[in-house]
Amino acid sequence: MRTKSKLERKNCKVCKHDKLIRMKHCYDCGKCVATFDHHCVWVDNCVGEKNRHIFYLCVLTNLVAIVNAFCMLVAEMWRQGSKETYQISFLSFLGILIGGLVSLFVMHTYMMMANLTTCTFWHK
Ligand SMILES: [Zn+2]
Ligand SMILES: [Zn+2]
Repeated sequence: MRTKSKLERKNCKVCKHDKLIRMKHCYDCGKCVATFDHHCVWVDNCVGEKNRHIFYLCVLTNLVAIVNAFCMLVAEMWRQGSKETYQISFLSFLGILIGGLVSLFVMHTYMMMANLTTCTFWHK
């Protein structure tokens, strides 16, 4: 009886083809994804080899846009001299979004520099 070596390629049990290193089957998309990072529920798609850089730029542009909105709202409140409850609530909401996006941006920057994916980072 023959045993499999560690260097032997594995097959995807669903797609029935050879799996490359870092390739993973996504059950949400129903296909294997090269350099699988994660399945993003916000864009309803996998982030992998072909779109990692686009996902990174998407996080960065969203961060810039929300920081811009935050600054514009603060400037407008300053100009009007008003501190309405709805304005403070919206600023808090934007602050939470900025915190989340900064965390995501820093984490993905680190993983890019360390040649890691979200999948390999969490499942070392
Ligand atoms: Zn597959
Ligand atoms: Zn997916």
